[in-house]
Amino acid sequence: MTTDCLFCRIVAGEVPAARVAESERSIAIRDINPAAPVHVLVVPKRHEPDVGALASSSTEDLADAFALIAEVARQEGIATDHRIVANTGSGAGQTIFHAHLHVLGGKRLPER
Ligand code: AMP
Ligand code: ZN
Repeated sequence: MTTDCLFCRIVAGEVPAARVAESERSIAIRDINPAAPVHVLVVPKRHEPDVGALASSSTEDLADAFALIAEVARQEGIATDHRIVANTGSGAGQTIFHAHLHVLGGKRLPER
């Protein structure tokens, strides 16, 4: 746990968030500033700065995150129509440097 990391603090329950699901290694929370009717963030409990670092350090954590994405997509009714996004680096729009995956759906999404 990194105490100055917002997502570590949400994982630890120190900062409130709208949790929609949880697995052994990840949590799923609603994005505070949704870009689509369904916008959930799947956040691995382990602190790594981005998904590439997560994949390098734990394939189990990476697989768990994708399994939780599938569960959330089913639960939210978007199993057959959703987009998974992982921003890496500020140039790509990453603002929180704790690995997470955006799960977007609930409307027709723009092509890119
Ligand atoms: P990224 O830009 O890929 O790093 O994504 C960070 C996301 O976290 C953004 O979509 C923010 O809206 C979202 N966010 C920031 N703070 C919170 C929070 N306290 N609870 C839920 N989502 C948040
Ligand atoms: Zn963290």
